[in-house]
Amino acid sequence: MPTALITGITGQDGQYLAEFLHTMDYKVYGMVRGQRNPKAEIIQRELPFVEMINGDLQDLSSLIATLEYCQPDEVYNLGAISFVALSFKQAELTADITGLGVLRLLEAIRLVGGPNNPIRFYQASSSEMFGKVRETPQNELTPFYPRSPYGTAKVFGHHTTVNYRESYDLYACSGILFNHESPRRGIEFVTRKITNAVARIKLGLQTEIVLGDLTPRRDWGFAGDYVKAMWAMLQQDEADDFVVATGETHSVSEFCQLAFEAAGIEDWERYIRQDERFMRPSEVDLLIGDPQKAKDKLGWTTEYGFRQLVQAMVENDLAIETANIGR
Ligand code: NAP
Repeated sequence: MPTALITGITGQDGQYLAEFLHTMDYKVYGMVRGQRNPKAEIIQRELPFVEMINGDLQDLSSLIATLEYCQPDEVYNLGAISFVALSFKQAELTADITGLGVLRLLEAIRLVGGPNNPIRFYQASSSEMFGKVRETPQNELTPFYPRSPYGTAKVFGHHTTVNYRESYDLYACSGILFNHESPRRGIEFVTRKITNAVARIKLGLQTEIVLGDLTPRRDWGFAGDYVKAMWAMLQQDEADDFVVATGETHSVSEFCQLAFEAAGIEDWERYIRQDERFMRPSEVDLLIGDPQKAKDKLGWTTEYGFRQLVQAMVENDLAIETANIGR
């Protein structure tokens, strides 16, 4: 039975990846941080096949102990401070977890793994590394120009992954994933904030959504599709880096419009209020990925379209908010 360790198991991607690996008959370990992490209880309830283990990307010795205990064939490093807005407010913490955390985990793999115990490594890199884009669409060779502490930390993690692959002959891959969403997306992220607010407006629980800039364009896919690319990267003969994206781009306002439409509300603009507080010090205006290499080499494709994704998120939030009223 292959064994996988997932850091960031309590996050959106960790849950989809754990479910996918379980269907492939993996033994799945999930690393959780903190003394009594409330999200760990949810994972234990909803994904009972995951064995939880305590560890923190800020603590090298806990990573070594985790690897020694799990003896994984594959490690998926999904743990991070992943919310760009928070990274501006807690830049040092972001650099430490999202950036240095990658180095610590690779060091732990180098120490615990080795030729007799090879461990394959996946790093969750991000399209935010392209930032102020140098070319459109962005592919594996597009130069990076990050525009946030999150983006700069991810660039460090990406280059460290490549460097460990080349220096120590580790099977280490970097997946440069463009935005991917789902009903499990954290409520702090703009997509879920919108779908949740739309549901609440529909049910008369809220009167407006307060947002920042509506013009940024993103390449949005479905998280359940994207975790399959992570796994496929670790099944190749040679480790490599891949862009994972849909190749389509949509603005935040288009996302809003579709979300309101999904709830049967047409005059959507009257429910939006913009506030400086939600503007970033430096914004990424346009992201659109070229997933050709992932399609050709991994055979990866998306099953969920943009409209379908927004619809599923709104329906999920309507169900949650409706159930909350009944409580
Ligand atoms: P997420 O929902 O924000 O999950 C982040 C995870 O990191 C959480 O489980 C969190 O655990 C964990 N974490 C935070 N600090 C940690 C620490 N010190 N040690 C160990 N774990 C820690 O993120 P996601 O959307 O699933 O994304 C997964 C990964 O892909 C992230 O690295 C993200 O940056 C990257 N990525 C995401 C996207 C996207 O659109 N979703 C796109 C490109 C790249 P707690 O529950 O304890 O906070």
